[in-house]
Amino acid sequence: MSALGRPPYHPLPMPTRATKRGDQRTRLERDCDVLICGASFAGLAVARELAGTGADVLVIDRYEIGERQTSACGIPTAWLEQLDLHAALQQTFGELVIHTPYTTVDYRLPWTFSTFDYRTLCSLLADQGAFTFETAKVNGRAGRTVRTDRGEIRAPLIVDALGWRRVLGAGPNIQPPDALLSRGLEVHPPGAGTDMEIWIDRSCVPAGYGWSFPAGEEVRIGVGSFDPRFHVRDPTERLAGELDAPAVRYQGNWIPHALREAVEDGVFFVGDSAGHCLPLTAEGIRTALYFGLAAGREMHAALAGQRTVPEALGRYRAFSASHATAFRWMLRAQRLIPRVAPRLLAGSLRAMQSRRFLDWAFGHYLEIAHPRFVSAQPGGQRTQVSFA
Ligand SMILES: Cc1cc2nc3c(=O)[nH]c(=O)nc-3n(C[C@H](O)[C@H](O)[C@H](O)COP(=O)(O)OP(=O)(O)OC[C@H]3O[C@@H](n4cnc5c(N)ncnc54)[C@H](O)[C@@H]3O)c2cc1C
Repeated sequence: MSALGRPPYHPLPMPTRATKRGDQRTRLERDCDVLICGASFAGLAVARELAGTGADVLVIDRYEIGERQTSACGIPTAWLEQLDLHAALQQTFGELVIHTPYTTVDYRLPWTFSTFDYRTLCSLLADQGAFTFETAKVNGRAGRTVRTDRGEIRAPLIVDALGWRRVLGAGPNIQPPDALLSRGLEVHPPGAGTDMEIWIDRSCVPAGYGWSFPAGEEVRIGVGSFDPRFHVRDPTERLAGELDAPAVRYQGNWIPHALREAVEDGVFFVGDSAGHCLPLTAEGIRTALYFGLAAGREMHAALAGQRTVPEALGRYRAFSASHATAFRWMLRAQRLIPRVAPRLLAGSLRAMQSRRFLDWAFGHYLEIAHPRFVSAQPGGQRTQVSFA
């Protein structure tokens, strides 16, 4: 047994690639009513809201749905319940344990957080939509035409849910380290644990944090740096080593930490492509779902003839922008915390342990993208798409 009470390590089988390759990759040249690029949290949430419109919805991704896990897959449990995705749940936590070099605090949360299985969640969410799916790599866009490695696809309604690269944005993309991005890397060793843990320790990462999220039969151990120039591979491996877990099954990515325009050149940007991941905590799943539902509802209304496409785009842009203050506050906290002297930080974390403060702080945090949004009413039935 390891120090965390984990069973001995047995290597897991390598995942097999499901994506069509070589001769199986046929041409894909077509028109559709809605083209959703990206079949992860944001893209699938948009698709869910278009069910019942009768629209020809095409979803594309370079990988099969659920093939490539993009995160530690932690989310407020109520989001899984509200979206009827409970079957993907792996483990639930009522507390958050934060370690610093000078203290450890155990915060009792006013709501629970859960880890889930990525493949199962994607599959359940996809089942709630009505769309055609194709694997294709998106290379760019000219007007209403999206260029992929299998051909060109045209649609009046286009969604970029492709993640931080914002592939369908106009003009050249800003790349890290100049872009407002953090970086995160984690390993997924087999094992077990009971606590959701965070480490704020400058000897591990100068600005950022480490985490350990147990998820059934594996633990997701990682390190995120708010400074994109700081490499997190060594710290991740060190943290895994300290937790007596093998550094296996790596997955990492850039993580946006600033809101970007949610609409550009008539395209809906949702999730990481719009910078919808929350600064400081790097929680981007529930926000990708939340803004995905919002974008999908506006499209639904446009397809139902309740508003024009420009109106739907304008309303979605305004909805996203209305969250700017919350995102700015989170970004301020992200910039401030690494500058607080470690002993002072430890004292502050201890002072914040009061039940009243935690209810207030975590209540406000959940409000940024509250699960009650799921049960808000979608649009009506489809008639004709109007570009007036
Ligand atoms: C290590 C790490 C751990 C994290 N842990 C958490 C966590 O526990 N909880 C949380 O809330 N957030 C977490 N995040 C953040 C979270 O993963 C993202 O904010 C979230 O995945 C955003 O969802 P999305 O649908 O916008 O984009 P993504 O999940 O990145 O999905 C983008 C999709 O687009 C596809 N794609 C990309 N480029 C192309 C292309 N050119 N052509 C075709 N398809 C393409 C990809 O295959 C993918 O399916 C973590 C991030 C990292 C890096």
